[in-house]
Amino acid sequence: MTFDKVEDCYLNAEQKKMICPNCRVSIYESFTQSKLGICGSINRREKYFWSVLKQECPSCEGPIVYVSHTPVDEQGVHGEPKHFLVFPRHSSRLPAPLEVPPAIATDYNEAGLVLEISAQASAALSRRCLQHLLDDTGLSKNSNLNRAIEEAMGKNLPSHITENLDAVRAIGNFAAHTQKSVNTGEILPVEPHEAEWNLEVLDMLFDFCYVQPAKNAARRAALNAKQKEAGKQPIK
Ligand SMILES: [Zn+2]
Repeated sequence: MTFDKVEDCYLNAEQKKMICPNCRVSIYESFTQSKLGICGSINRREKYFWSVLKQECPSCEGPIVYVSHTPVDEQGVHGEPKHFLVFPRHSSRLPAPLEVPPAIATDYNEAGLVLEISAQASAALSRRCLQHLLDDTGLSKNSNLNRAIEEAMGKNLPSHITENLDAVRAIGNFAAHTQKSVNTGEILPVEPHEAEWNLEVLDMLFDFCYVQPAKNAARRAALNAKQKEAGKQPIK
């Protein structure tokens, strides 16, 4: 039995780019592999060859650790390896961008973390996160999420975000619930894809409300630094 091919599966010669799951910066893959070997069989049938892949992010120095397994039989390994991110400990989704205020980012990251285990818990967290975001950005101070979304939809949001926010309400069937149930993080029945939709909409709102304005402010600061160098007035 040979496992030489295992190494080929993971350690690609041409360097692939990836997003660091700690800091979201684009980096090159440079994983080192520690082979663990075969361990038992799943359902007394499938055997796997297990490995640990690790890499330090050159940007934030954070550890990135995956556990991998590849199907194996008497002929050796076959099929594609599967990788599970074990550190940093969050879902396959990326963490909230750094521009997002910490309290809002924490709810979002935890909603992503529990998504695979409990869609209901994830949706409760992402609804709370959305309510907090609408309040923080001044889109709506209403403590009822159904009404807060309604108010936000009347503000100057891009049309695709407005439509997708409306879908959050439709998915949650908010109209059928009391005021209490949609603003206290209460657990409501929800499908996994519905819980994931909340996170998708939060992604769009993060970009529109926090990431783009921060980028714009940085661009204007750079422009005004040049204006100053040239002995000119800053642009308001
Ligand atoms: Zn990083």
